[in-house]
Amino acid sequence: MLDPVDWDEFRIEAHHMLDDMIDYVEHIRERPVWQPIPGEVRDLFREALPARPSALASAHETFMRAVLPYATGNVHPGFMGWVHGGGTPVGMLADMLAAGLNANLGGRDQMPIEVEKQVLQWVRQIFGFPDAASGLFVTGTSMANFISLIVARTGRLGAGVRKSGMHERRLTAYASSSAHGSIAQALDLSGMGIDALRVVPVNERFEMDVAALAEAVKKDRQAGHMPFFVAGTAGSVDTGAVDDLDAIADFAKREGLWFHVDGAYGALGMLAPDIAPRLSGIGRADSIAFDFHKWGQVPYDAGFVLVRDGELHRSAFASDAAYLRRESRALAAGSPWPCDFGPDLSRSFRALKTWFTIKVFGTEMIGQAISGTCELARHLRKRIEKTDRLELLAPVSLNIVCFRYKCEDPDRVNAEIVARLQESGIAAPSTTVLDGRLAIRAAIVNHRSNRSDIDAFVDAAIDLGNALTRGEYGN
Ligand SMILES: *Cc1c(COP(=O)(O)O)cnc(C)c1O
Repeated sequence: MLDPVDWDEFRIEAHHMLDDMIDYVEHIRERPVWQPIPGEVRDLFREALPARPSALASAHETFMRAVLPYATGNVHPGFMGWVHGGGTPVGMLADMLAAGLNANLGGRDQMPIEVEKQVLQWVRQIFGFPDAASGLFVTGTSMANFISLIVARTGRLGAGVRKSGMHERRLTAYASSSAHGSIAQALDLSGMGIDALRVVPVNERFEMDVAALAEAVKKDRQAGHMPFFVAGTAGSVDTGAVDDLDAIADFAKREGLWFHVDGAYGALGMLAPDIAPRLSGIGRADSIAFDFHKWGQVPYDAGFVLVRDGELHRSAFASDAAYLRRESRALAAGSPWPCDFGPDLSRSFRALKTWFTIKVFGTEMIGQAISGTCELARHLRKRIEKTDRLELLAPVSLNIVCFRYKCEDPDRVNAEIVARLQESGIAAPSTTVLDGRLAIRAAIVNHRSNRSDIDAFVDAAIDLGNALTRGEYGN
């Protein structure tokens, strides 16, 4: 009863929608990266719960007028804020197909799960993991980090911990001060508590100080704690730093710790021959968390968790609910199911847009897009080094550049530069704080960005800095 009454009319409207979104991506450069949302536009989405139907065309029109122009802008090549992927029209179409199929990938014997298993097999290949490794699409790396921590905990204490809980056992985990907040959150959600995370200092390149890690573990053992988990970062969210994964792997092996890699955006650098050597050691991880929706350019959301010991992974999540009974034939066959490897039962078909992306572009083109963002970051670094009024605030390791305009009140001025840049629609960097100093942070992730986007960004940043500090430089 919720299907169209007039399929022909529906089809025409559907084609309009498709054309609108193809136009949006094709002509994205003609738009501002981001623009402030007018009050009356916001108000359109504060209406009462509608009891009566309205026309599809009218809902579409509201979307075009009030939603589409006011998104974050991460499709736009001038977007450099946080670490957002740009997506592709191919991924968009695949998502439409997935929505049409309305598949639930919690389990059961269906081809969509075979597609997910195909991507898992490709992921094993990317990282050199064995066939026994398990993996799963999840929302994002935040969830993938959490799942990895739970598997590691179960590995350390045995599956009995799922029933008995932690009791007085004081497990401790380790990550650097540059690690993403979702690592601490994972300890929080697990019930181990954020204090169970030991924050290891970083060196001048913002990489984990492995000697300090060893010191922290030793101290904890002496105090009667149970060190069990160390998370290395492959592409830190602030500066793009890559921890010395080989050194952490060696240490974790010696100490019997679970070696996890948060490679949210950086891990897929494995697809770029010039970046992959920087990730040396990632293939030795016990678990890897990463996102296809960042450097992989798959539309949101498409996080992934990969676990070397698939049997342990299953033992950390599988349950024997009667309504999830498995059979040897028909629809309830195909055990184990994806729901045996994580907390989600109903799961969307994230695998399809990822399969389409990899299949249509191939890993070489995706790798070139990744390399390209790093090359643009080096171009931006050179422009900063050549400009007296700008200074770099962190080494440029991959695709993230942190810098600031030099002046008397740099924290205020640089925050203002970033806000005005965003409001101008020219570029959308974000900010971070490094060693107590506010930085303009450009994370170049979008495959559409090119040199002219970088030049427009840095020129506008300099102009804004000059205007905001009028007088300081005699201008
Ligand atoms: C983005 C990011 C995360 C979080 O990933 P989500 O997909 O947003 O959940 C974790 N770690 C790092 C290093 C990141 O860049």
